[in-house]
Amino acid sequence: MKIIDVLVNDKSGIALKKGYPLILKDAVMNPEVLKEEGDLLRLIDRNRRFIAKGYYGNQNKGIGWVLTRKEEEAIDFNFFESRISAAIERRSNFKLNTQTTAYRLFNGEGDGIGGLTIDYFDGYYMVSWYSEGIYSMKHHVYGVLDKIVNAKAIYEKKRFDTKGQYIDQDDYVSGTPGDFPIIVKENGMNFAVDLNDGAMTGIFLDQRDVRAALRDKYSEGNHVLNTFSYTGAFSVAALSGGAVKTTSVDLAKRSLAKTIEQFSVNGIDYEAQDIKVMDVFDYFRYAKRHELKFDVVVLDPPSFARSKKYTFSSAKDYTALLQDAIAITEKKGFIVASTNNASFSMKKFKTFIDEAFKTSGTKYKILEESSLPKDFRTNRDYPEFNYLKVCIIQKLK
Ligand code: SAH
Repeated sequence: MKIIDVLVNDKSGIALKKGYPLILKDAVMNPEVLKEEGDLLRLIDRNRRFIAKGYYGNQNKGIGWVLTRKEEEAIDFNFFESRISAAIERRSNFKLNTQTTAYRLFNGEGDGIGGLTIDYFDGYYMVSWYSEGIYSMKHHVYGVLDKIVNAKAIYEKKRFDTKGQYIDQDDYVSGTPGDFPIIVKENGMNFAVDLNDGAMTGIFLDQRDVRAALRDKYSEGNHVLNTFSYTGAFSVAALSGGAVKTTSVDLAKRSLAKTIEQFSVNGIDYEAQDIKVMDVFDYFRYAKRHELKFDVVVLDPPSFARSKKYTFSSAKDYTALLQDAIAITEKKGFIVASTNNASFSMKKFKTFIDEAFKTSGTKYKILEESSLPKDFRTNRDYPEFNYLKVCIIQKLK
């Protein structure tokens, strides 16, 4: 296969040589050579010295990813097989765990191929493609999976612009179609999952450790408010940990049926729980007006959200969101503050927390902080790819 010489500027050249995996748009000095996504690239410096090989695929601020730093290594079936089997090998401890049957098997650049993730759901595989470029190499990935895993079935999600074609897309790839929802286990809890139901599957696997912490340390005897609750996974964790009551709030109409489903597969009486289909910001007003207070408030908003009345951007509005939460948290209560916005760091996130508590005139203590779990492998040197930031905070007085 032909390979295109891409000239990178000095600054990016140094970063790429050190191990930075993303080929930034403004690193490329001869962008006119970039023609078709999926083309293989040979990155060279101004002296035409080899830096790395990668591929062309537009994804956020990058135009592609580095695949190998060995000039002689070909990007072929064997390349994909070596990276995917190494990733599976790294997660062999998950395979032995009967209490957790869903996890990330391959995490993009953290496992050596940016733009590709593979999640495992009790024998089913979900492959996510983040650019047209990596998608053009799908025959290799599916060839490798056919060879080295024994999948019940494979599904895929295209997480790049398919020009509006997503809606009717069938995510089925191969195998015996699943009878969805299937039930997966996470630390002994059950979760209903549908791999063929639009953009999301019913559970965000990256929050596994946070759900475990909520269940094991902050739920017993407590009333827990779960905002942006989606299918209510945090509420399930809280109730499994002995919460006396949960209130789950999400704007999406489908969240009601989905939350009832998650409660039901865990033997929880959903009628004893509050499930509110409403705007979180309206709920905060309602709670204040009725002087409702909670022992625990979970905040896990999307990075951006636009509802009829409000726009929310976690980079701009997280402080205000925290202030709303602080106002309805009991003294000595806990706030689980989470964000998946990669555009700011943990340090910045903590300044939002500090500002919110200062403005609210309350003291606080951060009891725990965490980021992505182990199966979401990232390179320690580049925290920008470890997008998840979670602080568990106690409101003191
Ligand atoms: N915390 C969830 C995942 C949240 S996904 C979990 O752990 O499973 C983000 C959710 O926020 C979506 O379900 C979306 O419907 C909801 N959402 C977005 N804007 C909202 C708003 N203004 N009020 C309530 N829910 C909102």
